Amino acid sequence: MPELAEVAFYSKKWAPGLGDRVVEVICRERARIYRTAEPGTIRRGLKGKKLTGIETKGKQMRFVFEEASLGLHLGMTGKLLVKGKEHEPGRHDHLVIRQTKRSLVFRDARMFGALKFDSSAEPDWWVKLPPEVVSRSFTLKAVSEYLRRRKGSPLKAVLLQQERFPGVGNWMADEILWRCRLHPGRRAGTLGDDEVEIFFRETKQLCRDALRIIGTKYGRPPASWLFRHRWRRGGKCPCDGAMLERATIGGRTTAWCPKCQRE
Ligand SMILES: [Zn+2]
Repeated sequence: MPELAEVAFYSKKWAPGLGDRVVEVICRERARIYRTAEPGTIRRGLKGKKLTGIETKGKQMRFVFEEASLGLHLGMTGKLLVKGKEHEPGRHDHLVIRQTKRSLVFRDARMFGALKFDSSAEPDWWVKLPPEVVSRSFTLKAVSEYLRRRKGSPLKAVLLQQERFPGVGNWMADEILWRCRLHPGRRAGTLGDDEVEIFFRETKQLCRDALRIIGTKYGRPPASWLFRHRWRRGGKCPCDGAMLERATIGGRTTAWCPKCQRE
């Protein structure tokens, strides 16, 4: 599942369509991606409208049209593509938005993706999404209260809560805790004030770094990140060379350094 920086990067795939008008919308009616939005409404709602903006919040993206908004969640296998204006929809092309010069295609083989249509450019559900980690509204106070509320949960599980840390997924959570030198299984309620502050700061910083490196050009994080070592067996901590450990914490495979992140 793509995390916030990947979602930011993928959302820009449709950027060539900015400023251009929708000529026709082709929906594969029975596709599961329409479980949250009716194909007929999307077809009627987008026709003739100009694409004016692309935004992301956490794992959620949104395409802004004149007096319309199309929310899109990529799910596991969703992809955004730009094809020629005559593009014949392939088997997994469930939504094709034809503009005057090109077709914007949403392709999703497994259909965990989802759409949301609104006939307003600033729909309620979008406004009500939790504040972005990199935004000013994401505060130390809010994080500290949240850790207290979830005091019995392991830190790894807490970081995966989209209501507080939108867009943070498995690898980002591991990277944050490694930077904080906090064990992923540590209970949220046991952190001292200093540790809460470090946790807050590193969460924000990692999201910023990921957006800069991955979100803009799909760059590869440097070798000094856990990211480059966590996937393979025998991976070592880039800081001290200790063999990384792995276990399921918070329902997800978690990697950490037993030396940097003591229990
Ligand atoms: Zn280490």
